[in-house]
Amino acid sequence: MIGTEKAGTATKGYATHGPEAKFAPFNFVRREVGPNDVLIDIQYCGICHSDIHQVKNEWPNFMPAMYPMVPGHEIVGPVSQVGDKVTKFKVGDVAGIGCFVDSCRECQPCIDGLEQFCQKGSAMTYNGTEMDRVTPTYGGYSNNYVVDEKYALKVNAQGDLSGVAPLLCAGITTYSPLKRFKVGPGQKVGVVGLGGLGHMGVKIAKAMGAEVTVFSTSPGKEADSKKLGADNFVVSRDAEAMAPIANSFNFILDTVSADHELMPYLGLLGIYGTLVVVGVPSAPAAVYQGALIMGNKALAGSAIGGIPETQEMLDFCAEHNIVSDVEVITPDRIEEAYDRTIKSDVRYRFVIDMQNQ
Ligand code: NAP
Ligand code: ZN
Ligand code: ZN
Repeated sequence: MIGTEKAGTATKGYATHGPEAKFAPFNFVRREVGPNDVLIDIQYCGICHSDIHQVKNEWPNFMPAMYPMVPGHEIVGPVSQVGDKVTKFKVGDVAGIGCFVDSCRECQPCIDGLEQFCQKGSAMTYNGTEMDRVTPTYGGYSNNYVVDEKYALKVNAQGDLSGVAPLLCAGITTYSPLKRFKVGPGQKVGVVGLGGLGHMGVKIAKAMGAEVTVFSTSPGKEADSKKLGADNFVVSRDAEAMAPIANSFNFILDTVSADHELMPYLGLLGIYGTLVVVGVPSAPAAVYQGALIMGNKALAGSAIGGIPETQEMLDFCAEHNIVSDVEVITPDRIEEAYDRTIKSDVRYRFVIDMQNQ
């Protein structure tokens, strides 16, 4: 046990102690519930591919791994305790936590509701530190979380919450660029990679009114892509299928987690088309400038979303009955879920049941 001599909130989690390590039970103490804090009893936590990248230290220069690591930033569950000054939640309300749990609250990005870009560096939900830059943060592969109410999201859902958890990262990461580039009716939208983010991108882009094409390396996902609402399915490694649709897309969202070429997707964009990358592979991709210049095309990135936009996304998904398609597992199956996710065999998000430990 680490820190159990301190007063606070006893937490049972699952940690890994190195890039090759297996997950093992890890008991630790979160801070006491302060006046502005809520205690969330975690029911479900999604497994994001970013968890895998960080556990395996695949982003040494971007987000280096700190061990022991308790991953998890797709968190949902009921509020079981509130501090004296809390106004946004009462005990029993359902709350969510995404990728960060605090920020400086004073810089321009924080004031603008873009806390993910806090100039002092936001406090990531795990594999980071609190704003004191000392206290490590541990994520949602655990049975509770203490968070300032400002950084918790209101979840308007009853019953089974397993499909809601992935909205807290996969949902906002796809919603934000689709909204920013005004995806809507009459537009041809591509989603590259049908995994956790990709399947949310399909659902959200359809709800926004676009015609959606999935680009996948897995021919076996075609039937699922139609069930998820996609209009078209293209096997991205099939040159004959890619050629006739060149220069025809308004917007493409690239969610691929592994190293891959961007040039084929720039070639699919029409005039003024935009390719947004949200996947974070280890190696950089080469881009030929001429491919952007001819057609006034744009290549952009997008990182999760701030608290106001994450709340907007949750409300949008509630209104459109959008949840994630999930496979619920017990914590003893985390490694199996990682292996299957790496093999693109996730349909379409693993979610850990954290209630019965
Ligand atoms: P995921 O569930 O594993 O999905 C990734 C998909 O990429 C796979 O299902 C597969 O789809 C495709 N893929 C895998 N290997 C490939 C390869 N070698 N070549 C081409 N396609 C391949 O992962 P995720 O949780 O959606 O996350 C996707 C990426 O986004 C990760 O890098 C993650 O770290 C990143 N991410 C970024 C943000 C952000 O704020 N920007 C937020 C969350 C996650 P097919 O089988 O259909 O080909
Ligand atoms: Zn994530
Ligand atoms: Zn800030």
